[in-house]
Amino acid sequence: MKRNLNQKLISLIEYYNLINANIVLSNTPVKRTNDYTTNTFTGTKSEKLNKLKNKIQSIKNCQLKNNANNLVFGDGNINSKIMLIGEGPGANEDAEGKPFVGRAGKLLNKMLEAIQLDRSKIYISNVVNYRPPENRKPTEEEIERYLPYLKNHIEIINPKILLLLGSTALNALIGDEEVISKARGKWTQTKIGKVNLWIIATFHPAFLMRQPEQKKFTWIDLKMIRDKIKTLKI
Ligand code: URA
Repeated sequence: MKRNLNQKLISLIEYYNLINANIVLSNTPVKRTNDYTTNTFTGTKSEKLNKLKNKIQSIKNCQLKNNANNLVFGDGNINSKIMLIGEGPGANEDAEGKPFVGRAGKLLNKMLEAIQLDRSKIYISNVVNYRPPENRKPTEEEIERYLPYLKNHIEIINPKILLLLGSTALNALIGDEEVISKARGKWTQTKIGKVNLWIIATFHPAFLMRQPEQKKFTWIDLKMIRDKIKTLKI
């Protein structure tokens, strides 16, 4: 009986997350704009990335940073034209200092393999670079705090395709006017800083592990990415 109740509660919370209830129930939509203070780093790509990493490491008074073991910056091919953005590090990522190395990462690897991509062909980072305690979602304040670094990160990598994994990445880079279940599977051509790119959102692999019946939609999105790679000759 108690277990049934717990399961019902978990499903309800997942449903609210799916429809972004915090946003649906709030009457102040967030629309991200392109005005933010850019750090212009100099040097080669890896020098710029190191400078950005140092900047993030010098953040003060951040609860996420104070509770985390490691900075989780990015992983993959820094020259890739395909960049993926997740939500934030979990326990495994915090321990290893690398994004998507836990169970969600294993599923992500399989998703990428399904369209002949692997981690050496893409670059990946997260909305926040330190693990939120108890794997909670980053707060609006935390998203805002890390957003300029994320945008700098995207500018330095300079991708042609940006894949947003889940509602937090969607909320951070596009805004919360549309929920992930509506926003996924649509291409938007936009500019982040000086970079012109194509953005698409899909469900987060951790969500797909809990709601496997949604995988069919992510498969549609992955095929759209495969086609875009062909048309853009990446
Ligand atoms: N989930 C994320 O959003 N990012 C990670 O790096 C790992 C799990």
